[in-house]
Amino acid sequence: MYVRDAPDDGETVVVLGGVHGSELAGIDAAHSTREWEFDRGTLVVIPEANAPAVRDRTYSGPHGDLNQQFPAGRSPTTPIAEAIWSFLVETDPDAVIDMHSSMGIWGASLGPSGFGQAIFPTEAGDARAIAARANRSLNEAVVRPSSRYGGAYNFTRGNTLAGAHPRLIHKVSADLETAGYLTEVTRHDTALETRTGWSEAVAATLLAHHGIEVERE
Ligand SMILES: [Zn+2]
Repeated sequence: MYVRDAPDDGETVVVLGGVHGSELAGIDAAHSTREWEFDRGTLVVIPEANAPAVRDRTYSGPHGDLNQQFPAGRSPTTPIAEAIWSFLVETDPDAVIDMHSSMGIWGASLGPSGFGQAIFPTEAGDARAIAARANRSLNEAVVRPSSRYGGAYNFTRGNTLAGAHPRLIHKVSADLETAGYLTEVTRHDTALETRTGWSEAVAATLLAHHGIEVERE
C-alpha cells in the first residue's frame, strides 16, 4: 500500500485495485493514482489488493473470491481480507473506492447486461448523491466526447450497498458507516487502455468530490 499526504489537511480516501486479479483496468488505474499530485488531503492506494490473484492474473486466486470475504458485523473470513480490513479500520478513511471491471453494462437496454459503467454507492456517507454528481461530470467530460462510446456507455448509479452481501464496500457502509464506491467499467467491446482511462477518470472525479483535486499527467 502507498500513503500520499498533501501539504494541507483534508479528507483521507483509500483507493483499491485488484480485489479481482483479472480486472486489469482497476489495477493499472490504481497504480496511476500513486503518481497524481494534489494539495489537500491524503490518498491511500492498495493497487493489488488480492496480490496472489493479481500475480496469477486470475479473478479469485488461491484463497477464493476476496470480495465475498467481508461479512458485515463479523470478522473477515481470510487472512488477506482481515489484513485489508484491519488497515482500513486503522486508517479511518472518509471514503473508500474499490475499482472493478465487468463483461456487461449495468441496466443495459442494448448489449449484454452486467455491472459495467456504474458506480455502486454505500448507504452511509453522502455517497449516493456524490455518485450521481460524479456520473454527470464523467459522462460530459469522458464518455460523450468520444463518438465511439455514446449513450450506451454512459455511467449510471448502481444499487445501494448497505451490508447485505459480504463485499468490501458493503462492510464499509455497515461497519465503518463511511462513504464507499464499488466502481465498474465494461469490457464489452472496449480496449484495456480505454477501460483504464475510464477507471482513472472515475477515481479522479470521486476524489474531487471528497476534496482531493488531483493533477493527472
Ligand atoms: Zn470485480
